[in-house]
Amino acid sequence: PEGGSCVGVRSTPAVRRAAVIGSGVMGAGIAAHLANAGMSVLLLDVVPDALTEQEAKAGATLEDRAVRNRLAAAGLARLAKQEPPALYEASFIGRIAPGNLEDDLARLGEVDWIVEAVVERLDIKRSVFARIESVLKPGTLVSSNTSGLSAAAMAEGRGETFRKQFAVTHFFNPPRHMKLVEVVPGPDTAPETIDRLAAVCEGQLGKGVVRAKDTPNFIANRIGTYGMATTIAAARAYGLGVDEVDALTGPAMGRPKTATFRLLDLVGLDTLLHVLDNVRERSDDPAERDAFARPPELEALVAKGWTGEKAGSGFYRKI
Ligand code: NAD
Repeated sequence: PEGGSCVGVRSTPAVRRAAVIGSGVMGAGIAAHLANAGMSVLLLDVVPDALTEQEAKAGATLEDRAVRNRLAAAGLARLAKQEPPALYEASFIGRIAPGNLEDDLARLGEVDWIVEAVVERLDIKRSVFARIESVLKPGTLVSSNTSGLSAAAMAEGRGETFRKQFAVTHFFNPPRHMKLVEVVPGPDTAPETIDRLAAVCEGQLGKGVVRAKDTPNFIANRIGTYGMATTIAAARAYGLGVDEVDALTGPAMGRPKTATFRLLDLVGLDTLLHVLDNVRERSDDPAERDAFARPPELEALVAKGWTGEKAGSGFYRKI
């Protein structure tokens, strides 16, 4: 029912300076991809509310810039360590400026494109958009990397300028290698915003853009998350272990690094739970609500803090 069409590259002003908000699995990866494409990038996360043991021992305080920028800096450090090592080049990672949304908010007024990649929760995304709006310049593109939250709901409460300049640009993991970007307009997105986002993604970032409608999980994740949830259910029904499922769905199918459970760990198990919840909450089809139920295996791992590669453990233990 979603439908979609490829859009061509139009002649629109290039993006030279970008900001990415949220420095997790996707935000750090998107920042590195934008830097690889020649943009100067500001990467912002929240200010931590407590010192680490190491910071406290070194006499640091919560006022120190290095502490306040710690989360974004950690996102960049994770990228540098990622396998395969050449996924993002160190020289490009070094060009990304880490910061935080409190101290660097005004700098969002200096960029051409702001990409939001914070946790998949509508309330948190809305509060980030309210802050962005307070410094937004006419002409600055704003987009969300949501996996499937409603663009209309995210734009709710914002003024006309924001609503015209805002849309979804949904990248896939890892952003450097996955070609697809879904571009999804909200109810008041200006056509030139969509054209410009599509042109930037295709022309500057080398992506294949599909325009999707503002339906739960858009196109790819409506199919993909359903596939993930049903594979977990099938493994449970047939008593198959993680290794067995991955042996069947990995190298044997030409997916050496993206067998089912490896991919789930890469995506982030907490993120997958949010994405399943979001479809269920927006669907009025009981069969669909069943299909997007929370798998108990995922809930148990997330309850232990094993949210996947970003936490060091998920379906696979790496400690
Ligand atoms: P993540 O949990 O790895 O990272 C989220 C980051 O957001 C964290 O660093 C957190 O500190 C930060 N954050 C939370 N609240 C914030 C705030 N108020 N201001 C600034 N930063 C804040 O999550 P992720 O996997 O990177 O997902 C980010 C977004 O991308 C989500 O909307 C998700 O659905 C989407 N997405 C994820 C994937 C994937 O494979 N993980 C793929 C495509 C899209």
